[in-house]
Amino acid sequence: MRIPNTVENGIKIGVSLPPDYLAGRQSGIYRESLGHPAEFLERLKQHGVDSVELRSLHSVAAPEKAVEAAMRIEDAGMNCTAHGSLPSSDEAAVLDASVKALSEELHLASPEKPLLITIHARRSKNSSTAEMAGQTEKTLTFLIKQAESEGLTLQWAIELTRCKGAQDPGAMPRTLLELVEQIDRPDVGICLDIGHCHSNVLRGFHNFSFKDAFLKRVVHVHAHDIGPRGQTHFPLTCGNLPLNEYGLLLVRNGYGGIMNLELSPARFAGFFDLQEAFFESVRTLKSLESPRQP
Ligand SMILES: [Zn+2]
Repeated sequence: MRIPNTVENGIKIGVSLPPDYLAGRQSGIYRESLGHPAEFLERLKQHGVDSVELRSLHSVAAPEKAVEAAMRIEDAGMNCTAHGSLPSSDEAAVLDASVKALSEELHLASPEKPLLITIHARRSKNSSTAEMAGQTEKTLTFLIKQAESEGLTLQWAIELTRCKGAQDPGAMPRTLLELVEQIDRPDVGICLDIGHCHSNVLRGFHNFSFKDAFLKRVVHVHAHDIGPRGQTHFPLTCGNLPLNEYGLLLVRNGYGGIMNLELSPARFAGFFDLQEAFFESVRTLKSLESPRQP
C-alpha cells in the first residue's frame, strides 16, 4: 500500500523563536545573528515555514510582549503556537496572563482556531511518578476550567520530555499516554518531541516502539537533533536523529499537525552559524515531504 506523504497529510513546518526577539527587543544572539524579526520571518516563510512557536511564554517580562510577538507572526501570515508551563504548585495555579492575552489576540483573527500550547507535566525528585501524574491532572484541569470560564479556546499538548532522573510522567511514552488517557479530554493531547524521544531511546530508557493509542493522541511535534556529546536541541544536520523513521511513523498514523523545529542556539554557538542552522534544518524537515517507504 502506498503511504501518503507529509504534504498529503497536511503536515506544516514550524520553528520556535523567543517572544522577546519577535517583539523587537534586543535579545542577544537572535537579534545579532538573525537580524530584524520581520525580515527573518519573511525569509522563513520563503523557505516553507508556516508556523512559529513562542518559546517560552514564561520568559516574557509582560503579556503585552507576547501579544506584540503574536502580531508580528500574524502580520507575516503565519500560524502561532506557544510553549508555556504549568504552575509549580497548586497554590499558584492561575492561568498565565500571557496565555490569556495571547489567546484573546489570536481569537480576534481566527475565532474557530484554538491556541496550541505545549506544557511539561509536573515532575519532582521526591514524589512518585503516579503522584506527579495526579498533580499534573489536577493543575491542568483547574487551568482548563479557568480558561473555559474566560471564553478562551486552547489546545493543550503535554510534551514527551528527556529522561533526567526525576519522577516525571512526561518522560516515558507509557506514562505520558497513561496521563493523557487519565485526563481523557479532546483538548489535551501529546507533544511528541522526537529529539527528546530519541535521546531517551539512545540512552536505553525506552524502545523505538509506540502504541497506536499513543500516536493517535499526538497533536504536536517538536524536532531537534542530538549533538556529539548527546546534547539535545541541535540543528537537524547532525544526522543522529532518524528523522525519516519518525516522519513515516507519524504519516502512517495520519498525523496532520505541525513539525516544529526547536533549537537552543546557546548550546551550539561556535559550531554552527545560527541562520544556517535554521535554514538547513528547515530544508531537512521539508525533505520529509516524500518520506521513503521502508
Ligand atoms: Zn520540545
